[in-house]
Amino acid sequence: MSDINDLRNKMDQVTLEMIKLLKIRTDIAKEIGEVKKNIGKGVTDEVREDNLRRKVISLCDEIGLEESIATKFFNFLLNESVKVQSVNKQTHLSIFLKAKSMEQQGKKIIHMEVGEPDFLPPLIVKKALEEVFDKGFLKYGQARGMPTFREALAKYASKKFNAKVTEDNIIVSPGARFSIFTAITTLLNPGDEMIVIEPAWPAYKDCALNAGIKVRTISTTLEEKWDPSLEQIKNTINSNTKMIVLNYPNNPTGKILSEKLQDTIVELAKQNDLYVLSDEIYSQYAKSNWKSILSYDYKKSIVTQSFSKSHAMTGFRIGYAIADTEIIEKMAKLEALCLTNVSEPIQYIAMKALEADTSNNSNTVQNRLDLLIEKASEIGLDFVVPDGAMYIFARNNQEGFDGIQFANSSLEKGLAVAPGEGFGNYRNFIRISACQDEKTLIEGMNILSNIMSEKQ
Ligand code: PMP
Repeated sequence: MSDINDLRNKMDQVTLEMIKLLKIRTDIAKEIGEVKKNIGKGVTDEVREDNLRRKVISLCDEIGLEESIATKFFNFLLNESVKVQSVNKQTHLSIFLKAKSMEQQGKKIIHMEVGEPDFLPPLIVKKALEEVFDKGFLKYGQARGMPTFREALAKYASKKFNAKVTEDNIIVSPGARFSIFTAITTLLNPGDEMIVIEPAWPAYKDCALNAGIKVRTISTTLEEKWDPSLEQIKNTINSNTKMIVLNYPNNPTGKILSEKLQDTIVELAKQNDLYVLSDEIYSQYAKSNWKSILSYDYKKSIVTQSFSKSHAMTGFRIGYAIADTEIIEKMAKLEALCLTNVSEPIQYIAMKALEADTSNNSNTVQNRLDLLIEKASEIGLDFVVPDGAMYIFARNNQEGFDGIQFANSSLEKGLAVAPGEGFGNYRNFIRISACQDEKTLIEGMNILSNIMSEKQ
């Protein structure tokens, strides 16, 4: 009996000692966060993390501790540091909210920061809104979505993405964002690692952080035309790596991977048994050759789609995911827990929207992008011509340019743009959206040009 008491006392002591050390570590992380902010360095530093990871692994060897336990614990510590250093992070969303509150006070703002098409949903949506009451789609339903809607989606996706999709491969969600959240949260466990290629839409990282999952960042550069390095991806994969996130056409760069590179990345994922979460919500706006991840018929792939961009239905909050039934079941459990099911009337309306021809939307966005490309070149911004999506991700080579400062000061002049830093370590970049009519875009680009010439 006294033996167990002794052991328990020791256990208490060790635990309390670990908590004290965690406090010291968190305080140091905060201090480092301040320094990084002052010198304009981003939160994530893969090289630095990797050096420490190597030390942890070699210590495991030395003291005889199982590496996978130690590295999971290490990932927890790294995420805590990321959390304390990420407070007040400014993204396109924070600029959007600031712009909205300025508008409430009577200021006129041109919105080139968010990816929200200004055009209306297809006309059939209006008719569906009018008739849904009488049609009686007004009740609770299955978490995965209405069977008729899933059937329609399966047919639509099979044809559009050249794949074999059945209704059992589909879950309807309130926007692609929620499918991304459920996929990451249900398929991965705390301490697992997920690869994100940056620049990237920030929610992948945020969902991972929320679920205790460690993000391993692969940074890409304008010089390399936003192509990720295969070597780097290979070197990042270890026994904790469980998922790679792809998003092509990409937000914010508009990049589409070459077929060869995409094939190789999917092959690498297969070899390492990784989930491939492919967020394909900009496929409607693919200009050059684009191939859905569905066409690989890989059991561990999850494709997210949405009506937000393709059908200009952002406010309806409707999207879906396509995956193997086992994956869909897991995602459906969490969706049922969070929201029972997606609103039936909205599902009916989206089902009707599937009948609409949206090719006009693609032409509209392409024309606007062409205009932005022309204007951005005239101003002297540095960028890769996008292969799709609705954005230009541009670098300003002026000395000391800071996208966050720029986004805040351009708001005062009536223009909202997204700071590059919201998408990774891209301080001297901004993202410009092609989501306004051409006259407004020209007005916005003129404001941008004026601010830039003032700074020279
Ligand atoms: N993925 C990407 C890459 C996005 O840019 C966005 C929204 N801007 C979403 C997902 C979320 O889309 P939804 O409105 O369907 O939630």
